[in-house]
Amino acid sequence: MTEKTFYNFSLFDGTGDTNDANAWFTVDTETGALTARGTGKHPDSKETVDLNGQYVMPGFLNVHTHVTIDPDSFDGSFGDSEAESAVWAYQNLQKLLKSGVTFARQLGTDYDVDVKLKRMQKKGLLPRTPHFQASGRAFSMTGGHGDSPHGGWAVDSPDEMRKGVRTALKNGVDVVKMMATGGVMTPGDFMADPQLSVEEMHTGVVEAHHKGLKVASHAEGNPGIQNALDAGVDSIEHGFYVTEQEARQMLDQGTYLTPTLIAEWTIPAYGKGVLPDWEVKKCEDALEDTYRNFKRAFKMGVKFTCGTDAGTPFNGFDMTPREFELLTTKVGMTPAQAYQCSSLNSAALCNVADKYGTLEVGKQADFQVLSKDPLADVKNVQQEDKQVYLGGEREF
Ligand SMILES: [Zn+2]
Repeated sequence: MTEKTFYNFSLFDGTGDTNDANAWFTVDTETGALTARGTGKHPDSKETVDLNGQYVMPGFLNVHTHVTIDPDSFDGSFGDSEAESAVWAYQNLQKLLKSGVTFARQLGTDYDVDVKLKRMQKKGLLPRTPHFQASGRAFSMTGGHGDSPHGGWAVDSPDEMRKGVRTALKNGVDVVKMMATGGVMTPGDFMADPQLSVEEMHTGVVEAHHKGLKVASHAEGNPGIQNALDAGVDSIEHGFYVTEQEARQMLDQGTYLTPTLIAEWTIPAYGKGVLPDWEVKKCEDALEDTYRNFKRAFKMGVKFTCGTDAGTPFNGFDMTPREFELLTTKVGMTPAQAYQCSSLNSAALCNVADKYGTLEVGKQADFQVLSKDPLADVKNVQQEDKQVYLGGEREF
């Protein structure tokens, strides 16, 4: 075992709401795991790194990204070919890591390139990319949200869903994504449109759960959110119109909410006169309702995750840090509560909390180094030239 000790920094480990002053930790450079941690005088190691009084916090987990989508194309696509999509996805994974995201979950990827890129990553062929889970293409109904030539997997009965999910599992996905409602980016398709049925989704949930995999459901309005909950999904993605009764059901079932605040916020903020009026209007009309619904759900105790829907219009792969600002200003969280959506809740949702999320002994040394205190101001995580480490190795 080779040890490397980092010292002289303030540590927010992602579990509580305070910093440890004058902290140090030691990393096993072969496994990338933290082996010891403390404050004050640090132990002697073969290698030591002085972090000069800066601030250390866990790398972010972003549980909702689309690495094959171009946030500047505005129509949900990038290239027409698998080769273009794959190169684009690789570059976006690097951008996520540079912004401080050390673990990402892909929820709907053209040509299943995330599944294929992950195989390459395991062979060490994708340097400077975060750990990630891959969903491959997303399941939708024919003509529904996400039914695109290369990005969707249309199913129209429980049997088709069963066959589809089993095939996706055979292909090696880590998570299953399904569309319970319409969405923002397709004309004539609305947040309140129910799409996949309870029976279709439930069949997919049973198959995924048999393999120990989680199911994420795109669900923006009602009755689709209710349908997804009745089907037993593990996370409601977006959930803009979540009701009090649905929030109670989420508490009972242990369902997570991925609010993707930045995705809904960027469209009216930057899209006027650029995007079609119907698209801007759909988001603008929903914003105030969304914030009210989220505040209530959060107060009731629903567990929120960190997910940005990166790839949607103006919602780039460098923007994850800005989600925390919206979680504080729009939902009413403290900075520590906002970061815990990533460090605790996202890791639990992805079933990786034994290894990722917080900076506790035994977990991976995936962290960022900031010049200003992230607990004093959530904007401090938006620092562009932050240092980012994976397993104790500096990547950016
Ligand atoms: Zn999405």
